[in-house]
Amino acid sequence: MTFVSTAAKVILTGLLFLLPGVFPSASEAGPLSTSDLAFPTDESLKYPFTKDDSLRCGRWEADHQDYPYFGAPRNRNSRKHAGIDIYPVGGEGTPVKAIKDGLVIKVAPFFIRSNGEKTYSVLIDHGDFVANYAELKKPPIRVGQRIGQGVCIGSISGTGQLHLELYEAGTSDSMRWYGERPRHLLDPTSVMMAVLSGDRKAMGADARYDAAIDLQ
Ligand SMILES: [Zn+2]
Repeated sequence: MTFVSTAAKVILTGLLFLLPGVFPSASEAGPLSTSDLAFPTDESLKYPFTKDDSLRCGRWEADHQDYPYFGAPRNRNSRKHAGIDIYPVGGEGTPVKAIKDGLVIKVAPFFIRSNGEKTYSVLIDHGDFVANYAELKKPPIRVGQRIGQGVCIGSISGTGQLHLELYEAGTSDSMRWYGERPRHLLDPTSVMMAVLSGDRKAMGADARYDAAIDLQ
């Protein structure tokens, strides 16, 4: 009986791995399922965010320190980009939405731009993962607040981008990426691409990303 149920579990787990939208590798994306996630903006994107597409798109010069992809070089190659940058066409002021229900666990300054603008980050515990939404204007929310999926958690700063990081469940703070990739940091690229191209296809999300590539 025990053997049968164990075998059944193994088969079931194997089947789950084959389903699109389910990411089996704990070291890569944890138990993230794209089927219950929403994209953080309804707008079309100005630039792509995968490594290949952003390197190809012509927006940035070779060796630039501002590529939007996960792991891109920063600070004269001393640091790596711990998230992806999402550029809605509306730029500054575009609302940013929670990708899933969650609890706000941190609201903090994120960066001071060369023009003096201070940007902010919002860390939300989404249960099976934690997300850091950064490069926002000062957000109108507070720690301890419960946020529903799709609720506006802030708006995009003068940087024109949402910097999005994902972490394993239970992570209590964001991390910078020097040297080895931080152990709890997840690569959000395939998850967010799947959200765009999968369950939101009916809303034209695929076309929104393709438009970002075609624009270049
Ligand atoms: Zn970024």
